[in-house]
Amino acid sequence: MNKFHVSVRLIACLSLLVLNAVIAFAQNTANQCPDQLSGLKSSIWKIIEIPVCWETISPNTATERQWVRQATVDTWEKNSSVRFIGWGGCQSNSRGIRIGIGDIHPHTKGLGNQLDGTTKGMELNFTFAIWSPSCSQPSRREYCIKNIAVHEFGHALGFSHEQNRADAPDWCQKEKAGTNGDVYITPYDLNSVMNYCNPKWGGDGNLSELDIKGLQAWYGKPKMPLNRFDGRWRGNLTYSDPGCVADNIEVSISGSKVTGAMSTPDGRRVAVQASLDQAGQLKGFQLRLSPKDLITLRGGLTEGSLTSTDCGCGSYSFRRSE
Ligand SMILES: [Zn+2]
Repeated sequence: MNKFHVSVRLIACLSLLVLNAVIAFAQNTANQCPDQLSGLKSSIWKIIEIPVCWETISPNTATERQWVRQATVDTWEKNSSVRFIGWGGCQSNSRGIRIGIGDIHPHTKGLGNQLDGTTKGMELNFTFAIWSPSCSQPSRREYCIKNIAVHEFGHALGFSHEQNRADAPDWCQKEKAGTNGDVYITPYDLNSVMNYCNPKWGGDGNLSELDIKGLQAWYGKPKMPLNRFDGRWRGNLTYSDPGCVADNIEVSISGSKVTGAMSTPDGRRVAVQASLDQAGQLKGFQLRLSPKDLITLRGGLTEGSLTSTDCGCGSYSFRRSE
């Protein structure tokens, strides 16, 4: 009995030694590899299409919400396979990144998939009356909102503050804040959008070369962006002229080719042929309903603005019909 106890203790002791050795080795490796953006590896999303929703949706914030979305498209999406999808209002059980809006210091509650389904997992500021009032100037608001969005979505992808790294210069480490990463994906990067010490605030919202390297290490290089739109889509067209009813249109997309037809209220079918460019923007999308009635769509596939010679301006949106 006694002997058994001893051997259990001995094994436990040996295991602890081995474990300590592993930890020491891991720490050593980290210390010895300053040459290796930093992130929290366990927080990498296992999905490449990450749902995003807004806790509150008001028509008053449509422009600002679009700025945020565009900022993510122009940076994290453009340079990797990751896609932020949805962008509607949150339901009580919505997963993914749930964005609250308030006049607060913008932040995320954790990194990467720690935000999955968390109420107000990300909070953004659109007004800047209290926090960072200089951003409330009309000339600065779009810049501030986009710039901050790029940084916060960096957290949402699992990237921590670059100034938190042990290999950041001492003067910069004084700015430490938030959750630490546990791996260094690239060398320390002064120009990272995740570095408070960046001489350009938030890198002016542009990913640095090393940001892109780190991003691609975790989320892959951009795939041919057009293929992701392949399939059948249903569009809804609404007009500013209250005398004009909304129209529906079905299109089929294959690569850059967009073909489809709209059924008019008087029972005709008006065909359309257009294209999608590399950035997912519709090109040449025109519906000629009559010699004097032409509808032109401008924007991305999922939504944009339209002009109609008969019904004024308006907007459209497309959703997958499968
Ligand atoms: Zn931050």
